[in-house]
Amino acid sequence: MCPVTAITGVKKEFYFIDPKICIDCGACGRACPYDAIFDTYGNAAEKVRRTEWARPVVQEEICSGCRYCVDSCPFECLSMLDEDKPWMAVASLTNPKACVSCYLCEASCDKGAIVLQPPKDVKPAAAARFQKTASAS
Ligand code: SF4
Ligand code: SF4
Repeated sequence: MCPVTAITGVKKEFYFIDPKICIDCGACGRACPYDAIFDTYGNAAEKVRRTEWARPVVQEEICSGCRYCVDSCPFECLSMLDEDKPWMAVASLTNPKACVSCYLCEASCDKGAIVLQPPKDVKPAAAARFQKTASAS
């Protein structure tokens, strides 16, 4: 779950989040069913249904096909389309189920061509979780 493996521990015992490794993407807080994760300000991070998590959207007209985002994803969620034709190659989210909304792909794109967006029908409270995470990252 953690894209940078900042969490270590033993099952059914305490886990430790290394603040030096954590990138504050919030994935663990959204996933924890017991709301046991607290943010930097001491607020419990409530669980968010995975269907409501933000997902990367590629603006194909801006994408240069550099594949930085593809290489940055720890879970191989992204692929290049038309990679055999470099003038047409664009990134695409091909494995959305594995995406944890960590923002690493968005951060790796110097063109601003890939941006995480919550689903259109998501409740405002869930969407706000991603706005906060985006500004904190
Ligand atoms: S990093 Fe940006 S420009 Fe490069 S392939 Fe990904 S979306 Fe396209
Ligand atoms: S947000 Fe981007 S880098 Fe992170 S898991 Fe999803 S596709 Fe991969």
